[in-house]
Amino acid sequence: MAGRFSSPLSRRDVLKLLGIGGVSAVAAKFVADSPLLPFHLVEAPEPERDERLLHSWGMVIDLETCIGCDYCTFACQATNHLPDHINWNVITTEQTSYGREYFLPRPCLHCDNPPCTDVCPVGATYKRDDGLVVMDYDKCIGCRYCQVACPYGARSFNWRTPEEGSFSPQWGDPEMEQRPRGVVEKCTFCIQRIDEGMSRGLTPGEDPDVTPACCVVCPASARFFGDLNDPHSRVSFLLQDRPYLRLRDDLGTAGRVYYLLPKGGI
Ligand code: SF4
Ligand code: SF4
Repeated sequence: MAGRFSSPLSRRDVLKLLGIGGVSAVAAKFVADSPLLPFHLVEAPEPERDERLLHSWGMVIDLETCIGCDYCTFACQATNHLPDHINWNVITTEQTSYGREYFLPRPCLHCDNPPCTDVCPVGATYKRDDGLVVMDYDKCIGCRYCQVACPYGARSFNWRTPEEGSFSPQWGDPEMEQRPRGVVEKCTFCIQRIDEGMSRGLTPGEDPDVTPACCVVCPASARFFGDLNDPHSRVSFLLQDRPYLRLRDDLGTAGRVYYLLPKGGI
């Protein structure tokens, strides 16, 4: 949609920059004017190995192939036992600068510099050694500072006492207990699967049993998960082959969710 962005660059400049086939150097700088259309095009970081971490779990979402069916949302809700009023994986409908519709799935980005953890007064949310941003529900006092601090709206507050049966069995069986009333929750990248897989010597992103449910269920093969530190992982290959960006990279959050651009760019 023309005019969606406040950009110092002309549309032609932007499309030219986005048209660099197979190269991840996208060098336009402009700010999205919608909080959830957060594409701020910057020099896309190369998928470098993070020497601090043994594994660096990340997700790649293909905006060209996503059909907006919401299967990922349903599978997430069932697997992680979400109450009806909470959604960890949001899908919005967006338009490119030249008017083409596309779908934008948004889980928690598991930011490398997460503003949500800095503000928690009791250390109830923190970054693990493998980069995952997690919650300690026993510690959470429900102040919601983290929810306010997250620029992506990825956190939800539990207003209600857990109810039985608020998941849809056709999308999977709950692998988690529902969180108690009064705490904040968010996407975990299906941490229960990752931890179980690692303990059994399986590889998240390769073995479906230990891969986030949203990636496993996607009928369009639009979501991929894996170790960004492994140069041979699927996610690393995808980021070598296609132009990509991250949401509001200008904020310095350095999310671990990468978006492969639709053909023709955005
Ligand atoms: Fe898009 Fe796949 Fe989610 Fe469907 S399941 S909305 S195709 S990411
Ligand atoms: Fe925290 Fe939001 Fe980043 Fe997730 S997306 S790590 S909730 S700031």
